[in-house]
Amino acid sequence: MQRILVLGSGQLGLMLAEAGARWGMTIDRLDIDNGGILYGSSGKVHSLDQFSPTDYDIITIEREHIPDTALVNDLRANPGWHGEQALYTLAHRRRQKALLDRLSIPTAAWLPVTAADDLSPVHARLGKDVVLKLAEGGYDGRGQWFMSANRPVAESPLPAGKAAIAEPRIDFDRELSVLGARNRAGQCVFYPLTENVHIEGILRYSIAPAPDSEPVQQVAEDMLGHIMQALGYEGVMAAELFIEGGKLLVNEIAPRVHNSGHWTQTGASLNQFQLHLLALMNSPLTPPVVEGCAGMINLVGLEFKPAWLANADIDVHWYGKSYRPDRKLGHVNLSAASHAELHTRLQHYHELLYGSAARQ
Ligand code: ATP
Ligand code: MG
Repeated sequence: MQRILVLGSGQLGLMLAEAGARWGMTIDRLDIDNGGILYGSSGKVHSLDQFSPTDYDIITIEREHIPDTALVNDLRANPGWHGEQALYTLAHRRRQKALLDRLSIPTAAWLPVTAADDLSPVHARLGKDVVLKLAEGGYDGRGQWFMSANRPVAESPLPAGKAAIAEPRIDFDRELSVLGARNRAGQCVFYPLTENVHIEGILRYSIAPAPDSEPVQQVAEDMLGHIMQALGYEGVMAAELFIEGGKLLVNEIAPRVHNSGHWTQTGASLNQFQLHLLALMNSPLTPPVVEGCAGMINLVGLEFKPAWLANADIDVHWYGKSYRPDRKLGHVNLSAASHAELHTRLQHYHELLYGSAARQ
């Protein structure tokens, strides 16, 4: 059986380890920031004394921001290292946007900016409302600033010396995402589009299949398929999308399993973590079967309540991370026969989980 190393010790790696464990695979996780190793789904961090990159057949990632350390360089030299081209291109917003432009995939217009730039010409080219985004290291809405020409600022919010991009603020109707996988043989499969709702820049809940998304399903698959093929990518990839007047725009791409795909743990015959492993192993891929509707609610900044586990109709995942008010600490999956039923149950559980904080 394959031995797989995941770079990163967060919840995505944890769920990859859980998915692999059922298939008898060894999946360990590397805490790249602190230099420790977590075996399987255990939360205990061990020192790297016994660690050797050559112990692993496949090395994959759960996050795009990989520090450039001696350890990472050793791992890069390992034949099992996957996704170098995708990581190089997608982990930097300027390179990612340039790729989308090169492939003629619709995305918001953009300009490279830094803290030293005057924003007036940026507003003149992109419009009154623009979003500044750090090229590297942002997540959950961090490292991004909404700016308006009506409220000019004396000083750029960007940290000095950091590369960033500016985009027009898109007045989207809804946010969707498409997840798919490609294996080395070039076979691609996709899940139905997911609708995502963000609160304060952080994904709060997802619904799949996204209501009324059939007309754009193929368009989304073609976009993501094109990106995966262009990068010779192996594994699961996600594209976050805006839909505006029936047209899709790619917001950003993640070369990994993705929060908006967690519903697949209860809503699909094969979940995104299993699909990632199969694609990495170059197994033949068949499209996952999705019946009915599925929803996912992120548990952001909540204290764990054991009573949640008594609800037999939800599937609770708790990551065991330390508390921060804006941190994703777990999620809940649920399924339903119809969108109407899903909406009712999603609303019920959102209120139950968040209490008065749900009504904003
Ligand atoms: P995450 O880690 O949650 O995926 P992120 O911090 O990497 O997010 P983005 O996905 O680019 O950054 O932006 C976060 C959210 O901010 C988007 O999901 C969307 O709601 C909003 N947003 C981003 N770009 C724009 C834009 N150009 N116009 C309007 N809203 C935007
Ligand atoms: Mg995003």
